[in-house]
Amino acid sequence: MVRADFPYFSHHPQDVYLDSAATTHKPSVVIEAVRACYENYAPIHRGLYRSSVELSDQYEQVRSTAAAFIGAIPEEIIFTKNATEGLNLLAHGLPLAESWKEGDEVIVSVADHHAVILPWQEAAKRHGLSLRYLELDEQGAIDLESLSSILSERTKAIAITHVSNTLGSITDLPRLRDILTTRGSEAIVIADACQSVAHFPISVGSLGADFLVFSGHKLYAPAGTGVLWGRESMLSSLPPLLTGGDMVVQVGRLESAYLPPPQRFEAGTPATEAVIGLGAALGYLSQVGMEAVRQHTHDLALAFFDQLRPVPGLSILASPHPDSGIISFSMQGVHAHDVAQFLGDRRICVRAGQQCAALAHGAMGVPASVRVSLGIYSTPEDIAPLVTGLTDLYHLFHG
Ligand code: PMP
Repeated sequence: MVRADFPYFSHHPQDVYLDSAATTHKPSVVIEAVRACYENYAPIHRGLYRSSVELSDQYEQVRSTAAAFIGAIPEEIIFTKNATEGLNLLAHGLPLAESWKEGDEVIVSVADHHAVILPWQEAAKRHGLSLRYLELDEQGAIDLESLSSILSERTKAIAITHVSNTLGSITDLPRLRDILTTRGSEAIVIADACQSVAHFPISVGSLGADFLVFSGHKLYAPAGTGVLWGRESMLSSLPPLLTGGDMVVQVGRLESAYLPPPQRFEAGTPATEAVIGLGAALGYLSQVGMEAVRQHTHDLALAFFDQLRPVPGLSILASPHPDSGIISFSMQGVHAHDVAQFLGDRRICVRAGQQCAALAHGAMGVPASVRVSLGIYSTPEDIAPLVTGLTDLYHLFHG
């Protein structure tokens, strides 16, 4: 689609890069934006001189770009260092509200990334909450229809992955909201959009979530950037995770008053250059068009499915949605790490292991899997080396 925009591929022309769900390469416009930022560097939000004011304006412009990208308003966009930080911020802050009591319940799913599950396990220990789990349906997707059976009047929040980084399933978040509305539940919905926001258009207005998080490095932006979006009404009562400089109105000896969101959640010196890079990445994706990105991923994933299915000994895990660009599989009699090592020796880059989703693997009854994941630079030419590699590997192990 746009491979020439990514210098990685001219530096590594032999690589077949199929690990974009782990992290993505950066287009030249992002690299150039980071370089230009360094060439005009200044502290932001505090200098009263021109370079500082200009860079502060650019930084705040990225907030507007990020808001437009997901159909939000800039005041609802909080910059974090990654999705993990956003998810921790919520698991830390939400239970501190007066309305949360010991014995309240939070629902997560077995398909969730550890970055969703672990912060809530910790919060459950701290606040005496109960953690309930949504299981998988027969297709290996999150079974939303079983939500009613675990939902109760004590359910305070549901933290759930939008696209599973392992199963490649898409959670129907508007359906989730419908179920909650029908049941009269006011549970807060937190969507982990790490694997969705880079693959198809998202508008928070129609998604039915109250909070949404994603990481910049998975959508062609520098690492060290992430976005936490929250409804303005919810952010205003949420306490910060980090306190310090750049987030206070007034500091006293015992008490201090914090700025309103989003500044309240952005204590300390930010990764300015990385956020500028994030703005360039979002601009780049908007130019390509997220609908075109979705179509590209969809068509290419179908071509991968077609050619992977006949590979001897290969079983595709669950029923990945082609829009996710994620296909996990196992090979009969070969450990996932051996598969990845064998492919890696041929410069085919895939992920192997539990992919930070141990419970999803447990639910599917497999110890580990191999994951192929697509990016906007992936092409049909990536398929043949993978299929040949896997077929050769099967014959090596099975004669
Ligand atoms: N959620 C999902 C679905 C992910 O794929 C990842 C990254 N693998 C994360 C959360 C955490 O992202 P990060 O490590 O960038 O914070």
